[in-house]
Amino acid sequence: MRVAVVGSGPSGCYTAQSLVQLDSGVFVDVLDRLPCPYGLVRYGVAPDHEKIKSLQGSLRAVLEHERVRFLGGVRVGGPGGLPVERLRELYHAVVYCVGAASDRHLGVPGEDLPGSWSATEFVSWYSAHPDAVEAGFLAGARSAVVIGVGNVAVDVTRMLARGAAELSSTDMPQAALTTLAASGVREVRMVGRRGPSQARFTTKELRELGGLPDTEVTVDPDELALDPAYADPSGLPAPQRRNVEVLRDWAARPPVDASHRIRLHFYLRPVELLADGGRVGAVRFERTVPDGQGGVTGTGRFEDVEAQLVLRSVGYRGVPLEGLPFDAASGTVPNVEGRVVRGSAVSAGEYVAGWIKRGPTGVIGTNRPCAKQTAVSLLADAPALARGSVPDDPVAALRAAGIEPVPWAGWQAIERAEAELGASLGRSVVKLADWDALLAAARRTAAS
Ligand code: NAP
Repeated sequence: MRVAVVGSGPSGCYTAQSLVQLDSGVFVDVLDRLPCPYGLVRYGVAPDHEKIKSLQGSLRAVLEHERVRFLGGVRVGGPGGLPVERLRELYHAVVYCVGAASDRHLGVPGEDLPGSWSATEFVSWYSAHPDAVEAGFLAGARSAVVIGVGNVAVDVTRMLARGAAELSSTDMPQAALTTLAASGVREVRMVGRRGPSQARFTTKELRELGGLPDTEVTVDPDELALDPAYADPSGLPAPQRRNVEVLRDWAARPPVDASHRIRLHFYLRPVELLADGGRVGAVRFERTVPDGQGGVTGTGRFEDVEAQLVLRSVGYRGVPLEGLPFDAASGTVPNVEGRVVRGSAVSAGEYVAGWIKRGPTGVIGTNRPCAKQTAVSLLADAPALARGSVPDDPVAALRAAGIEPVPWAGWQAIERAEAELGASLGRSVVKLADWDALLAAARRTAAS
C-alpha cells in the first residue's frame, strides 16, 4: 500500500513512522513543498535551542527508513501545485500534515503599520525560511514590544536580547546574524492581556530569560499582584505554579546594571498601534482586571508604550488547502480521529495529523500520539483502500505534471553546502536562506 504524507515536519515524520512501524506492507512518500525536511523543527525552533533542534536526528531516521521516501520541492494545492484530487489518484491514501502556516491577527487599528510584524515573520527570517523577507525588522529600533506571553513570544524576546557571541555558534543565516549583532534594541517588553498564572509559556523557557548574559529581567510586583493566584499559587496546576514562582522571584530581585532589559507585563491588552513618522511608534494598551472566570475586563484606563518594533506573537493559524474542507473558526480540517470529513461524511483515503488536525497547540512531542491516532485510523481502513488502483511509481506522474522532486540525496547536498558555507565563514553549519541557493545546492549534486 502506498501512502503520501504531505509535510515533513514533526507530525508528518511521526505519521510516517507510525505507519511503517504498525504495518510492514506500507510504503510512504513524505512530500514537502520545500527542498528541506523537518518543517518547524528547521524553521520554527529557535536557533539557540540546539537540544530541541537535535530532534532532527530522530526525524532523519524516519525519512531514511527503507519504506519511507522524502520528495522535496513538491507543492500540493494552490497555484502551480499538484491538485489535491490528482494526488489522491496517485496513492491509496493521503495524510495532510501541513501545520498552521499563518498567524492570528490582533484586529486592532495600526496593526499593519511599518515596524509591526507577526512574530512568525521574524522567526522565519532568522530561521532562513526561503519565503522570508529581509524586511528591515530592526532598522532604527531602540525598544520593542512583543504582544503575547506564549513560547514564541519568549523565543523572539530572547533572540532580541542575545549578543553576537551567543548567536554566531548557531546555524542562523549570516545576514540575520549581522543584523541582530548590530541591533540597537536595548529594551524588550513582553506583554500579556491576562495574568501571570494564565501565561502560556512553559517554565523552562521562561527561566531561560533570567539566565541571559548582560540582561536584566524585571516584573512589576503590583501588576503581578492583580492575579488572585499570585499571593498563594499553591492551588494552581504545577506548570502555572512554577511560572508564578519564577516571576515572584524576579519581582524580588534588586536592579542590576545590564546592556539589555526585558520587562514582562500583565493585564494590558493592545487596543491600537500608534504611528510616528509613518512607522509604528507606540502601542496603546488598555489596563485590564480579572473577571473572576479566567478572563479579563477592560478598565477604561489606557497606557502608551513606546516601541519602534512590534512583534505580534498571538498564535499560529491554519490556512485552507484548495480542495480540502476547512473550518475557518478553528483553522483546522474537520476530521474524526484523523479521518477527513467532507460535508457530513468521512472522505475515503484522506487524513490529517498535527496542527491542521487539532490546532496550533502543544510541544513537538504532542504530535506523536496525534500522528499515531491518525495512522491507526488509516490502517483500520486499509483493506478497503488497498483495493484502489494506483500507479507503480507516483514520481513519473509528478514529472508528467511538471514537478521534479528533490530526492533525499538533494537534501543531503544542501546539508553539505551549509556545512561548507559555515566553514568559509569560520562558523559551524550556516543555513542557506533563499530558494535559488537551496535548489542550486540540491541540483548540483543530483547532476554530479
Ligand atoms: P500560544 O501558546 O497560543 O500563546 C499565544 C499568546 O497570545 C497567549 O499569551 C495569548 O493570550 C495571546 N493572545 C492571543 N490573542 C491575543 C490578543 N488578541 N491580544 C493579546 N494577546 C493575545 O501561541 P505561541 O506562542 O505561538 O505557541 C504556539 C505553540 O507552539 C504552543 O503550543 C507553544 O508551546 C509551542 N512552542 C513551543 C516552544 C518550545 O517548546 N520551546 C517554542 C515555540 C512554540 P491568552 O492566553 O489570553 O489568549
